[in-house]
Amino acid sequence: MEIHAFILGGYGVSAYVVTAADGEAMVIDAPEGSQAIIEFCEARGLVPHLLVNTHGHADHIYANRLLKERWPAIEIAVGNADAKLLTSPLRNLSPLMGAWIKSPPPDRLLEDGDRVELGSVALEVLATPGHTKGGISLFSADGPGGPNPNGAGGASAPGAAGYLNERSVTCQPTRCTQPSG
Ligand SMILES: [Zn+2]
Repeated sequence: MEIHAFILGGYGVSAYVVTAADGEAMVIDAPEGSQAIIEFCEARGLVPHLLVNTHGHADHIYANRLLKERWPAIEIAVGNADAKLLTSPLRNLSPLMGAWIKSPPPDRLLEDGDRVELGSVALEVLATPGHTKGGISLFSADGPGGPNPNGAGGASAPGAAGYLNERSVTCQPTRCTQPSG
């Protein structure tokens, strides 16, 4: 498994393309500027099957629609408690960005303990509420931050820990609600 990190858009939001040894790929968050993610994937012949939003604020779901248009079969997944944020510009705070963001509705709702499959590996969904009710983190033992640093696919993740969470996938504090807990 490899984790390719991006910092995108005017707010410097992190996003990731996670790839498995067998060529499967998933995207984690879709900030403004996600055309770079599309170009990255196209250059490698990757067709992501899953887009996970770590939470539902506009800066992380900004390009959900763009990615869905590029890859119509991609499934959008989000923590269950954040599902309503995707399609509600007022709930996802996009007016704070001077935008009016309505994502396509989620295809899959995630709960603590769920697993998202990526080729021969799976990432565990960890509920990490606070910043939003439905915020999630993803954990894989396959990476330098996990107990299996060499990874199931034999490739370590460059520059990224096994945890992808609100510390690595963060909002700009002036643009998102502050964590309540
Ligand atoms: Zn946020």
